[in-house]
Amino acid sequence: MKTNMKKIISAVLAVIIAVCLLAGFAMADEVEVREFPDVDAAAWYGEAVYQMCGLGVIKGYPDGRFRPDRTATKANAVTILWRYSGSPESDAEPDADESSYYYGAAKWAVELGAVDAVSTDKRLSEACTRADFVFYLWLMSGKEASSLPDPFSDIAESPYRDAIVWAFENDVAHGVGSGRFRPENECSRAEIVTFLSRLEAGHRHEFDVSARIEGDNPCEVREKRTFICAECGYSAEMKTRAKGHSFELSRTVEPKGEKAGYREYLCPGCGKSYREEIPAECVILHGVEYINQNKWPTGCESVSTVAALRYAGYDISVDSFIDNYLPRGPMIYYKNGKKYGADPAESFVGNPRSSSGGYGCYASAIVKALKKYLGSGDKYLDLTGADLSDLAENYVRSGIPVIVWATSGMKKPYLRTSWTATDTGRVIKWYSPFHCLLLVGFDKDYYYFNDPQAGKEVKYARSTSEDRFNFMGKQAIAILPANH
Ligand SMILES: [Zn+2]
Ligand SMILES: [Zn+2]
Repeated sequence: MKTNMKKIISAVLAVIIAVCLLAGFAMADEVEVREFPDVDAAAWYGEAVYQMCGLGVIKGYPDGRFRPDRTATKANAVTILWRYSGSPESDAEPDADESSYYYGAAKWAVELGAVDAVSTDKRLSEACTRADFVFYLWLMSGKEASSLPDPFSDIAESPYRDAIVWAFENDVAHGVGSGRFRPENECSRAEIVTFLSRLEAGHRHEFDVSARIEGDNPCEVREKRTFICAECGYSAEMKTRAKGHSFELSRTVEPKGEKAGYREYLCPGCGKSYREEIPAECVILHGVEYINQNKWPTGCESVSTVAALRYAGYDISVDSFIDNYLPRGPMIYYKNGKKYGADPAESFVGNPRSSSGGYGCYASAIVKALKKYLGSGDKYLDLTGADLSDLAENYVRSGIPVIVWATSGMKKPYLRTSWTATDTGRVIKWYSPFHCLLLVGFDKDYYYFNDPQAGKEVKYARSTSEDRFNFMGKQAIAILPANH
Protein backbone atom coordinates (compact mmCIF):
# COMPACT_ATOMS: atom_id res chain seq x y z
CA MET A 1 0.00 0.00 0.00
CA LYS A 2 2.66 2.44 1.06
CA THR A 3 4.83 1.43 -1.84
CA ASN A 4 2.02 2.17 -4.23
CA MET A 5 1.45 5.55 -2.61
CA LYS A 6 5.10 6.32 -2.97
CA LYS A 7 4.97 5.56 -6.65
CA ILE A 8 1.94 7.77 -7.14
CA ILE A 9 3.52 10.62 -5.18
CA SER A 10 6.71 10.27 -7.18
CA ALA A 11 4.80 10.28 -10.45
CA VAL A 12 2.76 13.33 -9.48
CA LEU A 13 5.88 15.12 -8.29
CA ALA A 14 7.69 14.33 -11.49
CA VAL A 15 4.86 15.92 -13.45
CA ILE A 16 4.80 18.95 -11.16
CA ILE A 17 8.56 19.36 -11.42
CA ALA A 18 8.48 18.99 -15.16
CA VAL A 19 5.74 21.59 -15.49
CA CYS A 20 7.53 23.96 -13.10
CA LEU A 21 10.81 23.57 -14.86
CA LEU A 22 9.33 24.10 -18.29
CA ALA A 23 7.01 26.98 -17.45
CA GLY A 24 9.09 28.50 -14.69
CA PHE A 25 6.10 29.52 -12.59
CA ALA A 26 5.48 28.98 -8.92
CA MET A 27 3.05 26.42 -7.64
CA ALA A 28 -0.39 27.36 -6.43
CA ASP A 29 0.52 26.98 -2.73
CA GLU A 30 3.34 29.47 -3.18
CA VAL A 31 6.07 26.85 -2.92
CA GLU A 32 8.57 27.59 -5.57
CA VAL A 33 10.05 24.55 -7.28
CA ARG A 34 13.06 25.76 -9.07
CA GLU A 35 15.66 24.15 -11.18
CA PHE A 36 19.06 23.94 -9.53
CA PRO A 37 21.74 24.25 -12.21
CA ASP A 38 23.97 21.93 -10.17
CA VAL A 39 21.39 19.17 -9.54
CA ASP A 40 20.80 16.72 -12.36
CA ALA A 41 17.38 15.13 -11.84
CA ALA A 42 18.91 11.82 -12.93
CA ALA A 43 21.64 11.87 -10.25
CA TRP A 44 21.27 9.40 -7.35
CA TYR A 45 20.03 12.26 -5.15
CA GLY A 46 18.17 14.18 -7.92
CA GLU A 47 14.70 12.83 -7.22
CA ALA A 48 15.08 13.44 -3.47
CA VAL A 49 16.26 17.02 -3.98
CA TYR A 50 13.37 17.98 -6.27
CA GLN A 51 10.92 16.14 -4.04
CA MET A 52 12.04 18.10 -0.98
CA CYS A 53 12.14 21.28 -3.02
CA GLY A 54 8.53 20.60 -4.02
CA LEU A 55 7.60 20.21 -0.35
CA GLY A 56 9.23 23.56 0.42
CA VAL A 57 11.83 21.90 2.63
CA ILE A 58 14.90 23.04 0.75
CA LYS A 59 15.51 26.31 -0.99
CA GLY A 60 19.11 26.29 -2.08
CA TYR A 61 21.60 29.15 -1.87
CA PRO A 62 20.76 32.75 -2.86
CA ASP A 63 22.70 32.25 -6.12
CA GLY A 64 20.24 29.54 -7.11
CA ARG A 65 22.55 26.58 -6.55
CA PHE A 66 22.01 23.65 -4.18
CA ARG A 67 25.63 22.50 -3.78
CA PRO A 68 24.85 18.79 -3.28
CA ASP A 69 28.46 17.80 -2.57
CA ARG A 70 29.03 20.36 0.15
CA THR A 71 29.21 19.00 3.69
CA ALA A 72 26.00 19.78 5.52
CA THR A 73 26.26 21.77 8.72
CA LYS A 74 24.08 20.89 11.67
CA ALA A 75 22.30 24.22 11.02
CA ASN A 76 21.48 23.03 7.47
CA ALA A 77 20.25 19.74 8.84
CA VAL A 78 17.95 21.06 11.58
CA THR A 79 16.59 23.77 9.28
CA ILE A 80 15.58 21.18 6.69
CA LEU A 81 13.96 18.98 9.35
CA TRP A 82 12.17 21.94 10.94
CA ARG A 83 10.66 22.95 7.61
CA TYR A 84 9.78 19.31 6.91
CA SER A 85 7.92 19.30 10.25
CA GLY A 86 5.93 22.38 9.20
CA SER A 87 8.15 25.08 10.80
CA PRO A 88 6.55 24.78 14.26
CA GLU A 89 6.89 27.59 16.81
CA SER A 90 8.86 26.82 19.96
CA ASP A 91 9.46 28.53 23.30
CA ALA A 92 12.96 27.15 23.71
CA GLU A 93 15.75 29.67 24.09
CA PRO A 94 18.79 28.64 22.11
CA ASP A 95 22.13 30.35 22.51
CA ALA A 96 21.98 31.52 18.91
CA ASP A 97 21.88 34.64 16.79
CA GLU A 98 18.24 35.71 16.42
CA SER A 99 18.84 37.12 12.95
CA SER A 100 20.27 33.87 11.59
CA TYR A 101 18.37 31.98 8.90
CA TYR A 102 18.13 28.99 11.20
CA TYR A 103 16.94 30.72 14.41
CA GLY A 104 13.43 29.26 14.25
CA ALA A 105 14.90 25.85 13.51
CA ALA A 106 17.38 26.23 16.37
CA LYS A 107 14.53 26.84 18.87
CA TRP A 108 12.75 23.75 17.61
CA ALA A 109 15.96 21.67 17.66
CA VAL A 110 16.67 22.64 21.28
CA GLU A 111 13.14 21.70 22.28
CA LEU A 112 13.51 18.39 20.43
CA GLY A 113 16.76 17.65 22.25
CA ALA A 114 18.79 17.62 19.05
CA VAL A 115 21.15 20.41 20.12
CA ASP A 116 22.13 22.05 23.40
CA ALA A 117 20.67 25.35 24.55
CA VAL A 118 24.26 26.31 25.40
CA SER A 119 26.64 27.40 22.62
CA THR A 120 23.93 26.51 20.12
CA ASP A 121 25.47 28.64 17.39
CA LYS A 122 28.81 26.93 17.77
CA ARG A 123 27.25 23.46 17.69
CA LEU A 124 25.14 24.25 14.64
CA SER A 125 28.16 25.48 12.70
CA GLU A 126 29.76 22.01 12.96
CA ALA A 127 29.61 19.42 10.19
CA CYS A 128 26.67 17.05 10.42
CA THR A 129 27.81 13.41 10.64
CA ARG A 130 25.83 10.41 9.47
CA ALA A 131 25.12 9.57 13.11
CA ASP A 132 24.00 13.14 13.90
CA PHE A 133 21.48 13.25 11.09
CA VAL A 134 20.05 9.84 11.77
CA PHE A 135 19.78 10.86 15.44
CA TYR A 136 17.76 13.99 14.51
CA LEU A 137 15.45 11.91 12.31
CA TRP A 138 14.98 9.44 15.14
CA LEU A 139 14.13 12.19 17.66
CA MET A 140 11.72 13.76 15.18
CA SER A 141 10.03 10.41 14.57
CA GLY A 142 9.41 9.73 18.23
CA LYS A 143 12.50 7.81 19.40
CA GLU A 144 11.05 4.49 18.42
CA ALA A 145 12.97 1.53 19.86
CA SER A 146 14.11 -1.28 17.61
CA SER A 147 14.58 -4.84 18.73
CA LEU A 148 16.99 -5.69 15.91
CA PRO A 149 20.49 -6.85 16.78
CA ASP A 150 23.24 -4.57 15.47
CA PRO A 151 23.21 -4.53 11.68
CA PHE A 152 26.63 -2.81 11.54
CA SER A 153 29.91 -3.80 13.13
CA ASP A 154 30.99 -0.26 14.02
CA ILE A 155 28.06 1.11 16.04
CA ALA A 156 28.11 -0.81 19.33
CA GLU A 157 30.12 1.96 21.01
CA SER A 158 28.23 4.85 19.41
CA PRO A 159 25.91 6.93 21.62
CA TYR A 160 23.63 7.00 18.56
CA ARG A 161 23.43 3.22 18.24
CA ASP A 162 19.65 3.03 18.82
CA ALA A 163 18.98 5.76 16.25
CA ILE A 164 21.18 4.02 13.68
CA VAL A 165 19.43 0.67 14.12
CA TRP A 166 16.06 2.41 13.86
CA ALA A 167 17.21 4.15 10.64
CA PHE A 168 18.33 0.83 9.21
CA GLU A 169 15.04 -0.86 10.06
CA ASN A 170 13.06 2.03 8.57
CA ASP A 171 14.97 2.03 5.28
CA VAL A 172 16.30 5.53 6.01
CA ALA A 173 20.03 4.80 6.00
CA HIS A 174 21.98 1.89 4.64
CA GLY A 175 25.56 1.07 5.54
CA VAL A 176 28.61 2.05 3.56
CA GLY A 177 29.47 -1.55 2.65
CA SER A 178 31.29 -4.42 4.39
CA GLY A 179 28.74 -4.33 7.20
CA ARG A 180 29.83 -0.89 8.41
CA PHE A 181 27.92 2.33 9.02
CA ARG A 182 30.78 4.82 9.60
CA PRO A 183 28.82 6.96 12.09
CA GLU A 184 31.51 9.65 12.15
CA ASN A 185 31.56 10.26 8.39
CA GLU A 186 30.32 13.71 7.45
CA CYS A 187 27.12 13.98 5.42
CA SER A 188 26.87 15.88 2.18
CA ARG A 189 23.78 17.99 1.53
CA ALA A 190 22.74 15.42 -1.07
CA GLU A 191 22.93 12.68 1.56
CA ILE A 192 20.78 14.36 4.19
CA VAL A 193 18.08 15.14 1.62
CA THR A 194 18.21 11.53 0.45
CA PHE A 195 17.85 10.22 4.03
CA LEU A 196 14.88 12.47 4.60
CA SER A 197 13.28 11.41 1.33
CA ARG A 198 13.63 7.79 2.36
CA LEU A 199 11.88 8.55 5.64
CA GLU A 200 9.13 10.25 3.67
CA ALA A 201 8.73 7.08 1.58
CA GLY A 202 7.74 5.37 4.83
CA HIS A 203 8.83 1.80 4.21
CA ARG A 204 9.58 -0.20 7.30
CA HIS A 205 11.53 -3.38 6.59
CA GLU A 206 10.17 -6.65 7.92
CA PHE A 207 13.50 -8.26 8.59
CA ASP A 208 14.19 -11.92 8.93
CA VAL A 209 17.43 -12.11 10.87
CA SER A 210 19.58 -15.19 10.71
CA ALA A 211 22.87 -15.70 12.48
CA ARG A 212 25.71 -18.11 11.94
CA ILE A 213 28.69 -18.66 14.18
CA GLU A 214 32.06 -18.83 12.43
CA GLY A 215 35.19 -20.29 14.02
CA ASP A 216 35.55 -22.59 17.01
CA ASN A 217 38.20 -20.74 18.98
CA PRO A 218 36.41 -18.65 21.65
CA CYS A 219 38.75 -15.71 20.96
CA GLU A 220 38.29 -15.84 17.20
CA VAL A 221 34.59 -16.62 16.99
CA ARG A 222 32.58 -14.24 14.81
CA GLU A 223 28.88 -14.06 14.25
CA LYS A 224 27.61 -13.46 10.74
CA ARG A 225 24.19 -11.85 10.66
CA THR A 226 22.00 -11.67 7.61
CA PHE A 227 19.01 -9.33 7.37
CA ILE A 228 16.45 -9.94 4.63
CA CYS A 229 13.28 -7.85 4.28
CA ALA A 230 10.32 -10.15 3.62
CA GLU A 231 8.45 -7.28 1.99
CA CYS A 232 10.95 -5.62 -0.36
CA GLY A 233 13.71 -8.20 -0.56
CA TYR A 234 16.45 -5.81 0.62
CA SER A 235 19.28 -7.69 2.30
CA ALA A 236 22.32 -6.77 4.34
CA GLU A 237 25.08 -8.64 6.09
CA MET A 238 27.36 -7.91 8.97
CA LYS A 239 29.97 -9.78 10.92
CA THR A 240 30.66 -9.12 14.59
CA ARG A 241 34.25 -8.61 15.48
CA ALA A 242 36.20 -11.43 17.05
CA LYS A 243 37.04 -10.85 20.71
CA GLY A 244 40.73 -11.28 19.97
CA HIS A 245 43.45 -12.94 21.99
CA SER A 246 45.04 -11.45 25.06
CA PHE A 247 48.53 -12.86 24.89
CA GLU A 248 50.67 -12.83 28.00
CA LEU A 249 54.31 -13.75 28.39
CA SER A 250 54.21 -17.26 29.84
CA ARG A 251 57.85 -18.29 29.83
CA THR A 252 61.31 -17.28 28.78
CA VAL A 253 64.08 -19.65 27.75
CA GLU A 254 67.35 -17.74 27.66
CA PRO A 255 69.71 -18.38 24.75
CA LYS A 256 72.72 -20.50 25.63
CA GLY A 257 75.92 -20.62 23.58
CA GLU A 258 75.00 -21.43 20.01
CA LYS A 259 71.41 -22.28 20.98
CA ALA A 260 68.76 -19.64 20.47
CA GLY A 261 66.24 -18.99 23.24
CA TYR A 262 62.64 -17.88 23.04
CA ARG A 263 59.81 -16.08 24.76
CA GLU A 264 56.51 -17.89 24.77
CA TYR A 265 53.26 -15.94 24.81
CA LEU A 266 50.01 -17.61 25.82
CA CYS A 267 46.37 -16.55 25.57
CA PRO A 268 44.72 -17.77 28.78
CA GLY A 269 41.30 -17.51 27.11
CA CYS A 270 41.89 -20.20 24.52
CA GLY A 271 45.33 -21.69 25.11
CA LYS A 272 46.78 -20.47 21.81
CA SER A 273 50.46 -19.62 22.05
CA TYR A 274 53.35 -18.43 19.94
CA ARG A 275 57.09 -18.14 20.38
CA GLU A 276 59.38 -15.23 19.71
CA GLU A 277 62.99 -16.24 19.17
CA ILE A 278 65.77 -14.76 21.25
CA PRO A 279 68.82 -14.96 18.98
CA ALA A 280 71.81 -17.03 20.05
CA GLU A 281 74.68 -15.08 21.54
CA CYS A 282 77.19 -17.29 19.76
CA VAL A 283 76.95 -18.02 16.05
CA ILE A 284 79.50 -20.18 14.23
CA LEU A 285 79.10 -21.44 10.68
CA HIS A 286 80.60 -24.89 11.26
CA GLY A 287 79.97 -26.05 7.73
CA VAL A 288 82.42 -23.68 6.05
CA GLU A 289 85.23 -25.73 4.49
CA TYR A 290 88.68 -24.88 5.78
CA ILE A 291 91.46 -24.46 3.24
CA ASN A 292 95.04 -24.07 4.43
CA GLN A 293 97.28 -21.76 2.42
CA ASN A 294 100.42 -23.99 2.60
CA LYS A 295 100.47 -24.43 -1.18
CA TRP A 296 99.92 -20.69 -1.76
CA PRO A 297 102.11 -19.01 0.88
CA THR A 298 100.90 -15.48 0.02
CA GLY A 299 97.54 -16.56 -1.37
CA CYS A 300 95.36 -15.84 1.70
CA GLU A 301 92.91 -13.66 -0.35
CA SER A 302 92.44 -16.36 -2.98
CA VAL A 303 92.13 -19.15 -0.39
CA SER A 304 89.55 -17.23 1.70
CA THR A 305 87.60 -16.24 -1.42
CA VAL A 306 87.51 -19.78 -2.78
CA ALA A 307 86.36 -21.14 0.60
CA ALA A 308 83.52 -18.59 0.56
CA LEU A 309 82.66 -19.45 -3.07
CA ARG A 310 82.58 -23.17 -2.34
CA TYR A 311 80.36 -22.59 0.72
CA ALA A 312 78.00 -20.57 -1.47
CA GLY A 313 77.74 -23.52 -3.85
CA TYR A 314 80.34 -22.85 -6.54
CA ASP A 315 82.70 -25.63 -7.58
CA ILE A 316 86.06 -23.92 -8.03
CA SER A 317 89.60 -24.71 -6.85
CA VAL A 318 92.18 -22.27 -5.50
CA ASP A 319 94.48 -23.02 -8.45
CA SER A 320 91.74 -22.38 -10.97
CA PHE A 321 90.84 -19.11 -9.22
CA ILE A 322 94.47 -17.93 -9.26
CA ASP A 323 95.16 -19.03 -12.84
CA ASN A 324 91.92 -17.90 -14.49
CA TYR A 325 90.39 -15.04 -12.51
CA LEU A 326 92.82 -13.32 -10.12
CA PRO A 327 94.28 -10.20 -11.78
CA ARG A 328 98.05 -10.30 -11.31
CA GLY A 329 100.73 -7.62 -11.60
CA PRO A 330 104.51 -7.30 -11.17
CA MET A 331 106.34 -8.04 -7.90
CA ILE A 332 108.37 -5.23 -6.30
CA TYR A 333 111.53 -4.34 -8.27
CA TYR A 334 114.17 -1.62 -8.16
CA LYS A 335 114.84 0.79 -10.97
CA ASN A 336 117.26 3.72 -10.60
CA GLY A 337 117.18 3.21 -6.85
CA LYS A 338 113.38 3.48 -6.69
CA LYS A 339 110.85 0.76 -5.89
CA TYR A 340 108.09 -0.14 -8.31
CA GLY A 341 105.39 -2.83 -8.41
CA ALA A 342 101.74 -3.53 -9.05
CA ASP A 343 98.92 -1.56 -7.40
CA PRO A 344 97.30 -4.05 -4.94
CA ALA A 345 93.97 -2.25 -5.39
CA GLU A 346 94.07 -3.36 -9.03
CA SER A 347 95.87 -6.70 -9.02
CA PHE A 348 97.79 -9.20 -6.92
CA VAL A 349 101.38 -8.03 -6.40
CA GLY A 350 103.65 -10.86 -7.57
CA ASN A 351 102.96 -14.58 -7.28
CA PRO A 352 100.61 -16.00 -4.59
CA ARG A 353 102.40 -19.34 -4.84
CA SER A 354 105.67 -17.77 -3.67
CA SER A 355 106.56 -16.78 -0.11
CA SER A 356 109.26 -14.33 -1.20
CA GLY A 357 107.90 -13.38 -4.61
CA GLY A 358 104.40 -12.28 -3.63
CA TYR A 359 102.70 -9.68 -1.43
CA GLY A 360 98.95 -9.63 -1.65
CA CYS A 361 95.99 -7.63 -2.92
CA TYR A 362 93.09 -5.53 -1.65
CA ALA A 363 89.38 -6.29 -1.77
CA SER A 364 88.92 -4.26 -4.97
CA ALA A 365 91.23 -6.68 -6.86
CA ILE A 366 89.23 -9.67 -5.53
CA VAL A 367 86.02 -7.92 -6.63
CA LYS A 368 87.50 -7.80 -10.16
CA ALA A 369 88.16 -11.55 -10.02
CA LEU A 370 84.61 -12.23 -8.76
CA LYS A 371 83.15 -10.08 -11.49
CA LYS A 372 85.06 -12.13 -14.04
CA TYR A 373 83.96 -15.42 -12.46
CA LEU A 374 80.37 -14.59 -11.44
CA GLY A 375 79.45 -11.74 -13.79
CA SER A 376 78.24 -8.33 -12.65
CA GLY A 377 74.96 -9.52 -11.07
CA ASP A 378 74.00 -9.69 -7.41
CA LYS A 379 75.95 -12.85 -6.56
CA TYR A 380 78.49 -11.10 -4.34
CA LEU A 381 78.56 -7.94 -2.25
CA ASP A 382 81.44 -5.53 -1.83
CA LEU A 383 80.85 -4.66 1.83
CA THR A 384 83.94 -2.48 2.22
CA GLY A 385 83.24 0.31 4.72
CA ALA A 386 80.90 -1.60 7.03
CA ASP A 387 81.78 -2.29 10.68
CA LEU A 388 82.94 -5.78 11.57
CA SER A 389 80.19 -6.08 14.20
CA ASP A 390 77.53 -5.30 11.57
CA LEU A 391 79.03 -7.81 9.14
CA ALA A 392 78.76 -10.44 11.88
CA GLU A 393 75.20 -9.54 12.82
CA ASN A 394 73.87 -8.97 9.30
CA TYR A 395 75.66 -11.67 7.32
CA VAL A 396 77.22 -14.32 9.53
CA ARG A 397 74.04 -14.61 11.63
CA SER A 398 72.15 -15.18 8.36
CA GLY A 399 74.54 -17.95 7.34
CA ILE A 400 76.86 -15.97 5.06
CA PRO A 401 80.59 -15.92 5.86
CA VAL A 402 82.47 -12.69 5.06
CA ILE A 403 85.93 -12.32 3.51
CA VAL A 404 87.78 -9.68 5.59
CA TRP A 405 91.21 -8.04 5.56
CA ALA A 406 93.25 -7.76 8.80
CA THR A 407 96.65 -9.03 10.01
CA SER A 408 98.16 -12.45 10.75
CA GLY A 409 97.23 -13.47 14.27
CA MET A 410 95.68 -9.99 14.63
CA LYS A 411 99.18 -8.69 15.34
CA LYS A 412 99.86 -4.99 15.39
CA PRO A 413 100.58 -3.80 11.85
CA TYR A 414 103.83 -2.00 10.91
CA LEU A 415 104.91 -0.22 7.76
CA ARG A 416 107.09 -2.73 5.94
CA THR A 417 107.81 -0.97 2.68
CA SER A 418 106.39 1.35 0.06
CA TRP A 419 106.58 1.61 -3.70
CA THR A 420 105.19 3.43 -6.69
CA ALA A 421 102.56 1.54 -8.63
CA THR A 422 103.59 0.95 -12.23
CA ASP A 423 100.05 1.04 -13.56
CA THR A 424 98.35 3.77 -11.48
CA GLY A 425 101.35 5.81 -10.29
CA ARG A 426 100.03 5.75 -6.73
CA VAL A 427 102.41 5.43 -3.80
CA ILE A 428 101.63 2.15 -2.04
CA LYS A 429 102.34 1.78 1.68
CA TRP A 430 102.48 -1.89 2.63
CA TYR A 431 101.70 -2.91 6.17
CA SER A 432 102.70 -6.30 7.60
CA PRO A 433 101.67 -8.87 8.63
CA PHE A 434 99.02 -8.36 5.94
CA HIS A 435 96.34 -11.06 5.98
CA CYS A 436 92.94 -12.01 4.62
CA LEU A 437 90.59 -14.32 6.58
CA LEU A 438 87.07 -15.67 6.40
CA LEU A 439 84.78 -14.44 9.19
CA VAL A 440 82.59 -17.42 10.19
CA GLY A 441 81.33 -16.63 13.68
CA PHE A 442 81.04 -14.38 16.70
CA ASP A 443 80.02 -14.21 20.31
CA LYS A 444 80.13 -11.37 22.79
CA ASP A 445 83.90 -11.67 23.34
CA TYR A 446 85.29 -13.10 20.10
CA TYR A 447 85.11 -13.27 16.36
CA TYR A 448 85.69 -16.69 14.78
CA PHE A 449 87.62 -17.02 11.54
CA ASN A 450 88.66 -19.72 9.17
CA ASP A 451 92.23 -18.45 9.14
CA PRO A 452 94.14 -19.85 6.11
CA GLN A 453 97.34 -19.79 8.19
CA ALA A 454 96.10 -20.84 11.63
CA GLY A 455 93.16 -23.21 11.26
CA LYS A 456 89.40 -23.60 11.37
CA GLU A 457 87.24 -21.48 13.68
CA VAL A 458 90.14 -19.67 15.25
CA LYS A 459 88.94 -17.01 17.67
CA TYR A 460 90.38 -13.56 18.12
CA ALA A 461 89.23 -10.97 20.64
CA ARG A 462 86.57 -8.65 19.29
CA SER A 463 88.27 -5.34 20.01
CA THR A 464 91.64 -6.42 18.54
CA SER A 465 89.96 -7.87 15.46
CA GLU A 466 87.96 -4.69 14.94
CA ASP A 467 91.08 -2.61 15.38
CA ARG A 468 93.06 -4.53 12.73
CA PHE A 469 90.09 -4.70 10.35
CA ASN A 470 89.58 -0.93 10.66
CA PHE A 471 93.29 -0.27 10.18
CA MET A 472 93.22 -2.21 6.90
CA GLY A 473 90.43 0.02 5.62
CA LYS A 474 87.34 -2.04 6.55
CA GLN A 475 87.69 -4.21 3.44
CA ALA A 476 85.07 -6.94 3.19
CA ILE A 477 83.26 -9.08 0.60
CA ALA A 478 80.41 -11.58 0.93
CA ILE A 479 79.43 -14.25 -1.59
CA LEU A 480 75.69 -14.86 -1.59
CA PRO A 481 74.36 -18.43 -1.84
CA ALA A 482 74.37 -19.50 -5.50
CA ASN A 483 70.67 -20.40 -5.45
CA HIS A 484 69.39 -17.44 -3.43
ZN1 LIG B 1 11.90 -3.72 3.05
ZN1 LIG C 1 42.77 -16.53 22.76
